[in-house]
Parts: sequence; structure tokens; C-alpha cells
Amino acid sequence: MNREVQHHFDVLVVGGGPAGMAAAACAAECGVHVGIVDDNLRLGGQIWRGESDDLQNTERSKWVERMRASGVTTLFGLRVVHQPQAGVLLAESLDSVCALKYEKLVVATGARERFLPFPGWTLPNIMGAGGLQAMVKSGLPVRGKRVVIAGTGPLLLAVAAYLRKHGAQIPMICEQASWQTLSRFGLALFSWPAKIMQGFELGRDLSGLPLAANSWPLAAHGQQTLESVTILRAGRAETVACDYLACGFHLVPNVELALLLGCAVGNGGVRVDDFQETTVSSVFCAGEPTSIGGVELALIEGQIAGLAAAGHTKEAGACFSKRRKARRFAQLLDRTFRLRPELRSLPSPETTVCRCEDVPYSRLQRYTSWRAAKLHTRCGMGPCQGRVCGPATQFLFKWNPDSVRPPVFPARVETLVATAGQLEPQHSEVRGGH
Ligand SMILES: Cc1cc2nc3c(=O)[nH]c(=O)nc-3n(C[C@H](O)[C@H](O)[C@H](O)COP(=O)(O)OP(=O)(O)OC[C@H]3O[C@@H](n4cnc5c(N)ncnc54)[C@H](O)[C@@H]3O)c2cc1C
Repeated sequence: MNREVQHHFDVLVVGGGPAGMAAAACAAECGVHVGIVDDNLRLGGQIWRGESDDLQNTERSKWVERMRASGVTTLFGLRVVHQPQAGVLLAESLDSVCALKYEKLVVATGARERFLPFPGWTLPNIMGAGGLQAMVKSGLPVRGKRVVIAGTGPLLLAVAAYLRKHGAQIPMICEQASWQTLSRFGLALFSWPAKIMQGFELGRDLSGLPLAANSWPLAAHGQQTLESVTILRAGRAETVACDYLACGFHLVPNVELALLLGCAVGNGGVRVDDFQETTVSSVFCAGEPTSIGGVELALIEGQIAGLAAAGHTKEAGACFSKRRKARRFAQLLDRTFRLRPELRSLPSPETTVCRCEDVPYSRLQRYTSWRAAKLHTRCGMGPCQGRVCGPATQFLFKWNPDSVRPPVFPARVETLVATAGQLEPQHSEVRGGH
């Protein structure tokens, strides 16, 4: 393994999505020394994943340019796994460990898809909707493949449009929300002109595709791999042949790192004040860990967090009204794509809920809390550390996941050894440099 390296920043940003990029650029433009770390190999987060560096004048390229011009240090392929002491984060790459010291921290770790278990959901070729899109962006061919898209949230439509552009056939898009709720959502969009434009473009890209509201997957079937899926469509079951099922039930904030740092979480998101500062002094949070609100909210929260972390609170305050408007969109998303209670009866007793530790639904039914279920069944104690089954059980059983323990992601033994106090003497310290 490579020698460990230490970096020291005035402002460190964890997460290179829209929120993190905006935070890093705004902080660095105030003249402080800023670093940004992401476990991907490029900037962009989920929405701008795979966008070419050559594309000019995209929103992503504008932020990349601002970061470059203001001298932000970028650290890619590094995942933050632990805070061994206050003001120091530990990150690991494929072959090294890195200690990242900071005066101010911006947590911009984004969100992930929520999965709900139903019979057959662990068959090969069933993936998260955003997950399948990410695989196609990385080169998975879907030309001619039949992809059923199911779950809830605007991501389903974005993914359907993307997959269609890449040659997939889309036999059905199933949205659990009702037509009435979706119509109210459509009308409410008139308060956000940019969203209306996006909606029109999406409508054009999706024209002719069957969209079924009040619909969700009941069971997936196949011998070795997925062959078909049974959908409950407005009260009637119908089975659709397909090669892939892209299935996600909206998004859940990635709050694990913030929790590890001691930040308070409420209503599922990290609690922040007007300046995006968490309940832990000098730790800010921006983007989807605070609430699921789309790219505009992520960008504006990132700008406020970056400016405030650099001490420019007056400039940060000038962004508050834009954020108020963007937050109203987050509330609209929350109301529209709230899960309906019927989805709680999707799993059968045999359905696997924790796929890392092979724990079926029937074993979990005996317990009354996440902690008890973990202790007795190992649910949530596998490699994903409850990132998949945690949000599922929270919905199915109304359990609240309790505290997070380090490391927040599975880490190598060498990294944990570094955690045990061997960071200081033998390491080189780097200030600046790209
Ligand atoms: C799977 C998925 C696909 C999506 N696709 C679309 C889409 O096609 N269109 C659309 O409009 N919206 C999409 N969204 C929603 C979009 O992500 C949000 O609207 C918004 O852009 C979020 O920005 P963010 O900066 O808060 O988070 P993100 O863009 O998620 O960025 C967070 C970054 O932090 C990194 N990170 C997290 N934890 C660590 C750690 N411990 N160490 C290092 N790095 C870490 C992540 O790898 C990621 O790059 C998608 C969301 C998801 C979850």
C-alpha cells in the first residue's frame, strides 16, 4: 500500500456533486485554501456523471471552470470513511490512506435510491433506476433491451428518457403516485418556469411511452435472471416480459457521515441553520443530505455553505430568497412522491429484505426496533451497512435507524490501523497542489 498522505485545508468539501462543487468554488473565490474529495474519478455527482470534460457551457463545465480558476485542490477516487479525531477525516483509495485536516468542513454527500423488497427483487438484471442509468453511462449496452421502469419520483422519467435515447425499449413506466397527485404536481410546476421547460423537454423525449400511475411491481419472475415482472396497475395485475427492471422508490439522503460527526438529523435530513451550518460548529452541510430537492437546491445550498464556511456571511445571506423558493420545490417533491401505505405489504414472508446477510421478511417481523433486529438477525450489518435495508425497514416497520459507527463504509485493515493513532509522525503533509 502507498505511503499515507496528509492534506490540510481551510475548507474541506466532501462530495463532488453540484452542492460540493458550488461550495468549493464559492469558498475558494473568497481566498481560502479549499479541497474537495469524492469517491468517483471525476466531478459531477449523480446528475452530471459521465458528462464529457469537452462539453463547454454546461452547468457542470461552468462550476468546473470556477473551481479551477479559484485554485480548488481536487482529490478523486478517495472515500471518506472515518473521523479519527476532531478536524481530521480519514479517506482511502484503492491503494492508499489519506488524512484530511480541516478548519471548516462542508458535507455534500448527496442521496441514494430507496429500494423496497418484493418477491423476486434480488434476481439478476433488477437494478435501481439511477443505478442502471449509471451503468449505461459507463458503457453497458441497452440497445434493443426491454426495460420496465417502476417505483416513484421524477428520476424514473429522466431515466426512461435516457435509456430510450440509448436504444432501449420501454414497455411500461410504473409510478406509484396517483394521476390526481401527478396532475397537482404538474400544475404546481408553473411556479418554477425552468422546471416547466424541463417538463416539456421530458414530455417530448417520452412521447408514446406508456406511463401507468397508481402502479407498482408485485413480483419479478425468472429462472437464472429476470424474465418478466407482474405489475399491479390501477388495481389489476398484469405481467410484462422484460430484460431489465429499473426500480427505485425516490431518494434518501446520505446522512451517515454527518451522523458520525455528531450532526443532528431530523425528518430524515441533516439539520442546518440559515448558513447551512449543522448542529456541530464548523461543520456545514449542503445538497441532498439536508433534503431531496433537485439540482437547483443543491447548487444554492452549496453556494451558501461555501461562502459561510469562508466567513462571507453577507454574500451567503444574499442567496437566502433563492433557497426559499428551491426549498418549496423539495416540499412539493416530498408530498407528491410520498410512499403509499399499500407498499408495506409488498414483501412475502420469504422475501429477502437484507440481501447482504440474507434476512427474510418473516424473521424481521418478530422485532420492534432496528437495533433489536440488527442484534438478532444481522440485518444491516453486511457490506452495505444498512444503506439498502435501513430505509426499507424504516418504511416497512417504521423503525428508526440508530447511531452510525465508524467506518461509515467498509474499509481496509490498513486504514483502520491508521485510525488507531499512527497518522502523525511518518507522513508527508501536502498543502495545495492539484
Ligand atoms: C442514482 C441517482 C441518479 C440520479 N440521476 C439524476 C438524473 O439523471 N437527473 C436528475 O435531474 N437528477 C438525478 N439525480 C438527483 C440528483 O443527484 C440531485 O438532484 C442533485 O444533483 C444532488 O446533488 P448533490 O451534490 O447533493 O449530490 P450528488 O450529486 O449525489 O453528489 C454527492 C457526491 O458525494 C460523493 N460521496 C458521498 N459520500 C462520500 C464519501 N464518504 N467520500 C467521498 N465521496 C462521497 C458521491 O459519490 C457523489 O459524487 C440522481 C440521484 C441519484 C441518487
